[in-house]
Amino acid sequence: MVDGEKISIDLSPLPASLRIKADRSGFDLILWTQGKNWVVVRCRSCGTVSRKRRSVVRDTRIECKHCIRARRLAAEHKIGVTLIGAAIDNHKYGLFLLPCGHISRRQYGLIEAAAQGKHKVGCVECREERYTCEAKNQGWDLVGPPTSGKPGYRNYNHRCGQRQDVSVGNMSNGDVDCSGCGESWSSKPSAIYLFWIGLSSGEVIKLGYSNNPRRRLRQQLKIAKGVRTKILRVIPMPTGHTACVEEKALHSQMKRTHAKLIVPKHKYGDGINTRTEIYRVEAREIILQMMDAVAARFPDTEDPDDDLN
Ligand SMILES: [Zn+2]
Ligand SMILES: [Zn+2]
Ligand SMILES: [Zn+2]
Repeated sequence: MVDGEKISIDLSPLPASLRIKADRSGFDLILWTQGKNWVVVRCRSCGTVSRKRRSVVRDTRIECKHCIRARRLAAEHKIGVTLIGAAIDNHKYGLFLLPCGHISRRQYGLIEAAAQGKHKVGCVECREERYTCEAKNQGWDLVGPPTSGKPGYRNYNHRCGQRQDVSVGNMSNGDVDCSGCGESWSSKPSAIYLFWIGLSSGEVIKLGYSNNPRRRLRQQLKIAKGVRTKILRVIPMPTGHTACVEEKALHSQMKRTHAKLIVPKHKYGDGINTRTEIYRVEAREIILQMMDAVAARFPDTEDPDDDLN
């Protein structure tokens, strides 16, 4: 019995060349079956005996179904997904139950690659739900795929009724101009901020602007959970446009006068999801003083401590 089937047995000698081919795939050649069109082989890893077509052993690298299944099971276990069925249309795909509870059609190979840490098994439905929330925060509704078909874009509906394509990144940051009512990110209030970030590769500070510094620090900069961070200073700015102009001016001032305090990207790498705007902690007092000068020119009308005279 092999693979649950009764088979004929032929004990005539097996050619050494075929034995070598099987050996290269990690199998022992055992005997002929079915008029020498097939052979019986044994997987050396798990001992499972199976039937293979002679030409397949000769021409390809054969694999053990039992070992493949064990390998895939280990991968599924590692990343927390469960195979619930095979895709009908393509043997390379299976249907998986993801940790979030959604079901997704995925390539088996990708599940294994994910288990090796080569990429993440994201959930499309969860991702779209996230995009929906991010848009809501900005006063837009996610409608669906972009009319342009551009990757990284979605179609959104503004509260004024205007529908347009926006990149998901810009929507998440609130950098959206509505071509219907003219509401613009650059005309909405914003702020210049200074963060302290205690990366394991060394403490740094980050100067930037955002309409929501707290969210910028917690979410958008993709700083690892265990890393300590602090908001050192936030200066409210009347519009995103002024915040942008003032912040750029601060960076170029730093570049001119304290270029040595700029931390190059390779020093912090993926620790912070940004390419520039990172300084050594020694820059802290210098930048705070520069920010004082900016704050003096843009008194915060909502802050009773700010002297308006
Ligand atoms: Zn095996
Ligand atoms: Zn999901
Ligand atoms: Zn609008």
